[in-house]
Parts: sequence; C-alpha cells; structure tokens
Amino acid sequence: MKTLGLIGGMSWESSANYYRLINQGVRDVRGSTASAKCLLWSFDFSEIEALQHAGDWAQLEQRMCDAGQRLAGAGAEALIICTNTMHLMAGAVEVAAGLPLLHIADPTAAAVKAAGIGTVGLLGTAFTMEQDFYRGRLAEQYGLKVLVPDAEDRALVHRVIYDELVAGVVREQSRVAYRGVIARLIERGAAGIILGCTEIMLLVDQSDSAVPLFDTTALHAAAAVALALS
Ligand code: GLU
Repeated sequence: MKTLGLIGGMSWESSANYYRLINQGVRDVRGSTASAKCLLWSFDFSEIEALQHAGDWAQLEQRMCDAGQRLAGAGAEALIICTNTMHLMAGAVEVAAGLPLLHIADPTAAAVKAAGIGTVGLLGTAFTMEQDFYRGRLAEQYGLKVLVPDAEDRALVHRVIYDELVAGVVREQSRVAYRGVIARLIERGAAGIILGCTEIMLLVDQSDSAVPLFDTTALHAAAAVALALS
C-alpha cells in the first residue's frame, strides 16, 4: 500500500470526511482491520481564507508547496489536496514536492462522463466557479460543458461555504437556497451537478437535486484509495 500525503485543514470539516472515507475504502478492499497509510498536513484555515480573500495567491502557493515538501520528506508517495479551490496551484505543488498528485477534477470528470453527461453545473467557492483552473480542466481535458450559477447565486454559494460550512454550521434555510441554485442550473441545461467544494456534501444530498450530484469529496477519496492500493 502506498502512503498518501493529504494536504488538508481547508477546512478540517472536510478533511475529517476525507480521513473517514479513505480509511473505510481501504477497509472495504483489504478487510476489517486494514486502514490507510497516510500523513495529514492540516492548515489553520483562518490563515488560508484570509490570504484567499486578500488575493495573495503567491503566499498561498508558497505555503502549499511547503506542505507538499514536508509530506514528501515524511514519506508520502502521492499527494491529495483536500479542497477544490487550492487546486489552483496543484501543478506547482506537484513539481515542488516531486510526487504524483491526484487532481480532484479528474475522478470527478470521469464519473460525470461515465454517467453519460455532457453538460454539468458547478458549485464551489467563487474562486473555483469563476477562475479557469477548474472549469478549464473539465472543458479542455474532458470535453464537458460547464455551467456556473449567475452572479447573485455564486455570491450565495460562496457565502454559505465560508460563513457556515467550514465552521460546521448546517442551516435548513441554506439547504433550501442551494436547492434553488441547483434547480436554476438544471433549467439552463445542466444534466448533473458537481459539488465542487469539499464541504457542500455536509449540506446537500441527492434528494436536493432532480439530476445526479457528483460529490468531489467522495469521488476524490475513492480515487485516492484506488491509487494507494494500486
Ligand atoms: N473546501 C473548499 C473547496 O473545496 C473551500 C475551502 C478552500 O477554499 O479551500 O474548495
């Protein structure tokens, strides 16, 4: 089994789910006492989100590369970044650490395509929905048409992530609001919805959507298990 290096704490709410899902996945394959060999670098998310909102992506890239190098030095054989947003600097982290990195968009796109879906809605932070690093990969490498919510809905989705979900707060009124955002994406032609933020699975499930949901946390964790056991 390969030792996975998890770069997490963004937020720890979703890292806890990664840890549980990866260990469950290894147990399912290897038997009841088996568990994942892994190392976790867990950031203080208050520092990360302050730098994100200040637009200091250079400092964030430096910290992410440092985390990757520390995990490589500690014996990790492959890297998993436990957030969609921070895949913005996935390429730099992979080079700095000198380890293979399992990009979260890849198992996600594979699942969307396996479901026979070509047009997909994307929910995530404003950084993920509005910049090209994520949508571009889905479009260019997998030929997917990616729809994002309109500006008002993007602001709502972003606010709920940073004000509620990363703090472990799950509000019924936010679930209802997300249902509305999902319904509007479906009206515009989305045949599936990517939960492109690793905390959204805390808030919504398949019962909130008339089309299939693609939970990046679960898909990334499952791919991490496959990689560890390959
Ligand atoms: N976990 C979230 C994501 O998947 C947001 C937190 C972050 O900015 O890293 O994008």
